[in-house]
Amino acid sequence: MAWTPIPKPRAVREATNLVDYARTRAGFSWTAERAALSGLPGGGLNIAYEAVDRHVSEHGDRVALRWVDRHDVAHDYTYAELAERANRFAGLLRRLGVAPGERVFTLLGRVPELYVAVLGALKAGCVVSPLFSAFGPEPVRQRLRIGEASVLVTAPQLYRRKVAAIRDSVPALRHVLVTGDEDGPGTLALAPALAAEAPSFDIEPTAPEDPALLHFTSGTTGTPKGAVHVHEAVLAHYVTAKYALDLHPGDVFWCTADPGWVTGMSYGVIAPLTHGLTLVSDEGDFDARRWYSVLAAQRVSVWYTAPTALRMLMRQGADLARQYDLSALRFVASVGEPLNPEAVVWGQDALGLPVHDNWWQTETGAIMISNFAGEEVRPGSMGLPLPGIDACVVLRGEDGRALVRHGEVTPLTDPGAEGELALRRGWPSMFRGYWRDPARYAKSFAGEWYLTGDIARRDADGYYWFVGRADDVIKSAGHLVGPFEVESALMAHPAVAEAGVIGKPDPVAGELVKAFVTLHEGYPPGEALELELLAFGRKALGAVAPKEIEFRQSLPHTRSGKVLRRLLKARELGLPEGDVSTLEGAS
Ligand code: ATP
Ligand code: MG
Repeated sequence: MAWTPIPKPRAVREATNLVDYARTRAGFSWTAERAALSGLPGGGLNIAYEAVDRHVSEHGDRVALRWVDRHDVAHDYTYAELAERANRFAGLLRRLGVAPGERVFTLLGRVPELYVAVLGALKAGCVVSPLFSAFGPEPVRQRLRIGEASVLVTAPQLYRRKVAAIRDSVPALRHVLVTGDEDGPGTLALAPALAAEAPSFDIEPTAPEDPALLHFTSGTTGTPKGAVHVHEAVLAHYVTAKYALDLHPGDVFWCTADPGWVTGMSYGVIAPLTHGLTLVSDEGDFDARRWYSVLAAQRVSVWYTAPTALRMLMRQGADLARQYDLSALRFVASVGEPLNPEAVVWGQDALGLPVHDNWWQTETGAIMISNFAGEEVRPGSMGLPLPGIDACVVLRGEDGRALVRHGEVTPLTDPGAEGELALRRGWPSMFRGYWRDPARYAKSFAGEWYLTGDIARRDADGYYWFVGRADDVIKSAGHLVGPFEVESALMAHPAVAEAGVIGKPDPVAGELVKAFVTLHEGYPPGEALELELLAFGRKALGAVAPKEIEFRQSLPHTRSGKVLRRLLKARELGLPEGDVSTLEGAS
């Protein structure tokens, strides 16, 4: 794909991590980086201690969490306060007889209790599993059952709407803790319970390989899987935030991902706190004006968001962004889905900064590939593997997935090679299992390599370009077509707001490329625009251009913001929809 280099952003000029970065690129070792962590005073490693407690002696009065409520009022919690509240929560779990290793689930929006519960449960040695608060009763039940939840922390209204009716079908669930002052039938109120606990707590002596987090995947390709991460992952959270997000102790950092997903936990809670900075959390829903005003009012310096959110901002136009003082903003990054080059360029125009794409998965636990501040940004590419991450593309078989022979795969070395993206096992935040599904876990590896299920191309300089998920790649008239390339090409047209591309069975071509398109305001759908877009696609893409275009009011997304191409395809072909528990708008 063509790309235009863009000038070095402000971040590059200001980022002090770059000095380290140049050095580390050559001689990186996870062992050396580990010196940045302190470990538990009595031995062992605990994510919550690394995130919060170790900062308390020197920076106890620094703001750790700035929580902006729905009414735009900011509430500050210092490192010392957060440590103490988490201690009380950990004490409560211990008093209730919840043992280390048991699963503590959260079903909460962005409220302070969420941070307290997550950090407290980690201190108690429990495994934290965050659920997305907009899930309906069935996805909640499914995950509580799969993860054998012992404890659920939620809000009274969420309990009534989503849990009460399904509670009997989750027999392992012994305690439901609810925010606020009032016990309900079968629930214990958190505020008085925490007040009754001691402000200090002896952290459970967790070992680096003890399970800490259970994260369910987004369910884009099928039924969500529960990825298990251990306390050692915190090393990757810390290091990747330093190099891919350029975090510094003085930063004000805002991650817009919901804490119910891995991004909202790895980078919405853990990583920024390990850097001792101020984390912004906004209780409000997405609204372009609100988001810009949070960026401006909180003087956010580093912002981590997602393509779906950026596309929504783009729909409102760059002029809106210019009405706000975004001068504190130093670095913007995006994850979750392919970031169209359009969005990178828009960032420069509207925010005065390019958007840095990066790639990772629930399974990888932390950022693996990024368009890092210190390197040239190539719009449309995911960037370069981070220090300590060894990536490659491997030879594919007929089904689009890696070709595995005698348990091994063949890394492709020629420039421009395209294949399944693979990562050499052994980085600290690599998942250690799919919960209760060892067979599926084993199938994700071939020899030394973890197979990601994504198809990518590596250019001559080692930049990785996303082609598509192995399941989504289209085979049309002898060409392998990546949906992302087609979608990005269409998005370069001023009328197109978002595109989702699928392969539709065709007797001649095998599969035919079909695009579903939503439009910017002011562009009426119709035959004229359809023909124009078909021609526009042909000019940009040649043989792999879409042959059919259908206009839509909206495209189906997962709740974590990804276009659900498999659902577009199932509906188009009249096939069963499969697992739609993570479909946005479903209950
Ligand atoms: P499931 O595994 O249940 O199908 P999922 O893969 O969408 O769901 P996540 O772990 O939330 O679940 O998402 C990781 C996936 O998101 C990656 O494998 C990739 O397909 C996509 N992705 C993430 N970041 C990027 C990016 N920068 N560019 C392209 N794709 C990305
Ligand atoms: Mg996946």
